[in-house]
Amino acid sequence: MASLSEKLPVLSYKYTGTNVLAIGAHPDDIELGAGGTVARLAAEGARVTMLVVCTPNHLESRMSEAARAAGILGAKIRFLYRERPMRVEDIKNYELVEQIDNLVRQADPSLILTHADSNFHLDHVLVYQACRAAQRLHFFDMLCFYPISCHPVSTRFNPQVHVDISRTLDKKMAAIHEHKTQLICRGLATNHYVDVARHYGRLAGVEYAEGLEVSRLSLG
Ligand SMILES: [Zn+2]
Repeated sequence: MASLSEKLPVLSYKYTGTNVLAIGAHPDDIELGAGGTVARLAAEGARVTMLVVCTPNHLESRMSEAARAAGILGAKIRFLYRERPMRVEDIKNYELVEQIDNLVRQADPSLILTHADSNFHLDHVLVYQACRAAQRLHFFDMLCFYPISCHPVSTRFNPQVHVDISRTLDKKMAAIHEHKTQLICRGLATNHYVDVARHYGRLAGVEYAEGLEVSRLSLG
């Protein structure tokens, strides 16, 4: 089966040579939700930075794991709050919006990948809301990835865009498996994310894909 990238290299022509921000509330969120897309964007010449807002526990270990995972995906890593373990809920809402605004002002991204609003984890929703708020000052595409949870939970998620990750699924899973403090130590399975990629791949006519909800997308 011809891959989507061979038929329609949208990611290549749209984002190559530009800055892309992938923003997750915690270490491992971006890898789980959009690791295959991040790897594809990086491989196709986008300058991808993975921004982790904060780390709730195992601060040093989880930041090290996230740095190794970003290396596998070909992205830079940046931590917004790195001084102490904390949750996004601990950050004043206007402060988070201001921080995201500053990041967007500095990076001038063509695309932000972040959480979807249908998350049931409040930290994830708060990050989504701050990214959405940044749209009032800047123009960038904003695509939202699959809701992240320790165990699969039924929640509303209706992706309109599918990214073929058939060639980057291995990198995604390798990056996920760097997060040993979350996955191995807690006995959490990761096969679910292969199943999800296979499901969205079927919808896109490829082997594996990531589904993304559109918050804003300019087609030029
Ligand atoms: Zn999270």
